[in-house]
Amino acid sequence: TALSLKNPKLLVEACRIGGAWSRSGDGVIAVTDPATGARIARVPNAGGAEARAAIHAAYAAFPAWRDRTAADRAAILRRLSALVSENQEDLARLVTCEQGKSLAEARAEVAMSAAYVLWFAEEARRVYGETIPSPWPDRRILVTKEPVGVVAAITPWNFPSSMIARKLAPALAAGCTIVIKPSDLTPLSGLAWGVLCEEAGVPDGVVNVVTGDAKAIGAEMTGDPRVRKVTFTGSTAVGKLLLGQAAGTVKKVSMELGGNAPFIVFDDADLDRAVAGAMLAKYRNSGQTCVCTNRFLVQDGIHDAFAERLAAAAASLKVGNGLDEGVMQGPLITMAAIEKTEAHIRDATDKGARIVAGGRRHARGGLFFEPTVLTGATPDMAVAREETFGPLSALFRFEDEAEAVRMANDTAFGLACYFYTRDLGRAFRVSRALEYGMVGVNEGIITTEVAPFGGVKESGLGREGGRQGIEDYLDTKYISLGGL
Ligand code: ADP
Repeated sequence: TALSLKNPKLLVEACRIGGAWSRSGDGVIAVTDPATGARIARVPNAGGAEARAAIHAAYAAFPAWRDRTAADRAAILRRLSALVSENQEDLARLVTCEQGKSLAEARAEVAMSAAYVLWFAEEARRVYGETIPSPWPDRRILVTKEPVGVVAAITPWNFPSSMIARKLAPALAAGCTIVIKPSDLTPLSGLAWGVLCEEAGVPDGVVNVVTGDAKAIGAEMTGDPRVRKVTFTGSTAVGKLLLGQAAGTVKKVSMELGGNAPFIVFDDADLDRAVAGAMLAKYRNSGQTCVCTNRFLVQDGIHDAFAERLAAAAASLKVGNGLDEGVMQGPLITMAAIEKTEAHIRDATDKGARIVAGGRRHARGGLFFEPTVLTGATPDMAVAREETFGPLSALFRFEDEAEAVRMANDTAFGLACYFYTRDLGRAFRVSRALEYGMVGVNEGIITTEVAPFGGVKESGLGREGGRQGIEDYLDTKYISLGGL
């Protein structure tokens, strides 16, 4: 079957709570392969009680984990990173089978997971404090960084492996313990992290994974005063809900929410490069990433050539089961995702947009959709305001730089943006003017473990990756040392 693994231990159908594997819960959740609709596993439909038990285990494990040396924690994280790399093929199959992306993209995601863990293994040893010149002659002032404590992580389905890596690795590096709730659509990669952590020598209770009822688990995570931080990647709507819930016990929060990424193509762009970057920034993961382009803003002089080239490239993408050789675009995650893409296309064409590639459900049926390109998009269309999260490119026209910047910033979101130009002055001006957390200049893919990933405005709070990524898991402590 699709899910035969070299290391079958990586496929588990139980939650990891404390040092044990638990099947406790209100029945099970079926996990299906979006490419075939086949049921591939059943995981526990755990709820508040299981979440509470996991928090309890994480709380109990915290003092000993915190007190390990940074070098010790780093060694365990390096082992974890190595295990992810050694099991890359199996872990990629898990990702493709539960999520749908092509095996090539799944391998890249797993490699990224290993890279995040290695990066934070290295950062664990660089959690520096400082001393401050004292205003009192008989005192010293020290500032230290302390792990925040128990972390609750809620992760989405679009990157079932790497979205966990970005939270688990800095938490462990900082000396925190963690309870993870993966998406119920893609729990298998999350549970595999439990297996890998166990094998890497992560002590019992330090990493817990609970699958099941999102509402009940989320309520427990945000309500329990022992949880000191909530880190979430997902929709803006759920992020706002969790922010509200976390307010009750004033938890630290990190939020990686939705985007509405503009991709600006100026007249002076390198057209080949812009089209290649556009394909990656739009159609990767079938358009289902929070940094995927949602709006192409294209200057008058290059518009028609860009539209033609993009339409041709989109039409040539091979759509199919991600496990099959050469497939570049897999299925979408659910029928709701297909319907949202269709609704955006219908709304746009009703208001005057023109389809120049794709536009319909794919002939393969199921959850497959044609890579689509629309021209003539305008600000009154749904696609201008809402993230499609599907394989739809909408092209808007603009005349000059000021108009492009205005259009790009005309959104409540501020995660990633991209622009293409060969003018150095413009590269600096526009980078500065765009109200976004991340800017790709002449690049369509910018995620890396060494740089801070995150958004401004309603796209979120906090950063993942880079030197900044561990800060979100640390509290600052000031020590006034007197009587000297
Ligand atoms: P997406 O559209 O990417 O699935 P969601 O925000 O719905 O985004 O899901 C992201 C994560 O949030 C998933 O793990 C999901 O189960 C979880 N989630 C959804 N609703 C809630 C909720 N009310 N409380 C806590 N977690 C939730």
